[in-house]
Amino acid sequence: MRATLTVLGSGTSMGVPTIGCDCAVCTSADPRDRRTRPSVMIQWDSHTVLIDTTPDFRQQAIREGIRRIDAILYTHGHADHILGLDDVRPLSFRRTMGGAKIPLYAAENTARTLRNVFRYIFEADYKFGGLAQVELQPMNGPVELFGATFTPIPVIHGDVPIEGYRFGSAAYLTDFSDIPEESLAKLEGLDILFLDALRHHPHPTHSTVENSLKIVERLKPKRTFFTHISHDLPHEATNAALPENVRLSYDGLKLEFEL
Ligand SMILES: [Zn+2]
Ligand SMILES: [Zn+2]
Repeated sequence: MRATLTVLGSGTSMGVPTIGCDCAVCTSADPRDRRTRPSVMIQWDSHTVLIDTTPDFRQQAIREGIRRIDAILYTHGHADHILGLDDVRPLSFRRTMGGAKIPLYAAENTARTLRNVFRYIFEADYKFGGLAQVELQPMNGPVELFGATFTPIPVIHGDVPIEGYRFGSAAYLTDFSDIPEESLAKLEGLDILFLDALRHHPHPTHSTVENSLKIVERLKPKRTFFTHISHDLPHEATNAALPENVRLSYDGLKLEFEL
């Protein structure tokens, strides 16, 4: 099936520009240097699936004209990946969903964080309505959604195991410092690979440009896009120094691929 992947956000946890920063990237006039928090949207036929709901979800959804969400997959429970969950409300009500709840797929540790942070959604008995109509689904392996398969790919984020996802000929791996050998084996033959590349300087919980380039050498996907980018990497200058088939992603980037 042909599908479209849209980069909803390509920035690191604080976003770019970063509050209070006057550096060259934070004050750049290039729109690709403005990075909201990291998330992607995958669409095929009439279906829309999100990976993560960032604190910028409202702005991203308005920018991309999102009218419906059929499912949300979570990578992990950090604030920059989950805090937009409340903003799915208008898309979760009866007029869009016909009374069904939006399914959320998350590994058990991430589901626990979602239940804690959004206790008012999952536990509240709020008689006035208005809560996001969402429902956590257990995820113990590949998730089948409307004829497509989303396979969780375990990666290591500092000392926490979190999820990347492979779907058809594409994979999205954000927030990792290491990819276990068993996971690398599941990433052969990709047309499109998204990789965390925070900056050049090493970081305890994130990959760098240099480290992610080594992964590209190993996996040889047709095209690679870096994400979770900090204000250390100016879009144009960084791209100029990367191999032809490796690019920084940017907010609003759309790619066609085989799902
Ligand atoms: Zn993150
Ligand atoms: Zn994180």
